[in-house]
Amino acid sequence: MPGSLKTEGVVLRSLRFGEADRILHLYTLERGRVSAIAKGVRRTRSRFGGRLEPFFRLRLVLHEGRSELLTVTSAETVAPQARLREDAAALDAAARACDAVARLFADGEPHPEVFHLLCNELALLDGDPARATQANQLAFRLKLLVAAGVAPQLAACASCGEREHIAGFSGAAGGVVCPACEAGAFPLAEESHVFLTKALALPLAQTPGASPRALRQAERAIAETVEYHAHVRLRAAAPG
Ligand SMILES: [Zn+2]
Repeated sequence: MPGSLKTEGVVLRSLRFGEADRILHLYTLERGRVSAIAKGVRRTRSRFGGRLEPFFRLRLVLHEGRSELLTVTSAETVAPQARLREDAAALDAAARACDAVARLFADGEPHPEVFHLLCNELALLDGDPARATQANQLAFRLKLLVAAGVAPQLAACASCGEREHIAGFSGAAGGVVCPACEAGAFPLAEESHVFLTKALALPLAQTPGASPRALRQAERAIAETVEYHAHVRLRAAAPG
């Protein structure tokens, strides 16, 4: 059904295409992940200027024809994230955040909460590039897992419901496990469990810090959850 779609969107990736065009991977408010072509954008006098680059938050008009690929007809900047671009760590964190969104959500599945979460993450990194930490990235991923319907169970053993004695984490079971249900799990320190619980519950801006060991265990818990339940692999949460 040809027509035009007005929506806000964040540029996840921007790829050169042909002589002067770009293919954009966007995460939009109305339609979730979509791909769109921007024609003539690499010409010096393009009406789009430089705003079709990764991490720009845009107000878009997209033309929808018969092909899967939409066409960008207009793009106005809502937030350019200019400060974020000047900081290597913030830029890297923004790229990892966009990559996680692109891997976890398929084309054409709208999740407005994911759009708002991504905008919030980019605004935080832009406002204070020192927020580009592994803890922040893990908290962002945990919140994405909630939206994807695969959040790990953290309040009680995912196998039997025991609340008092948590000993490990099992991606297959889908959360923390007690000593009796530990088969296939890896040991989870109490500090790591506390970090996961707080990072999931608190707003992104209030993500707590944790020791390198706790962050390592939290990252493993998130990675195993994603592999077992969403069948995708995420990039490392921070540069190695
Ligand atoms: Zn159990």
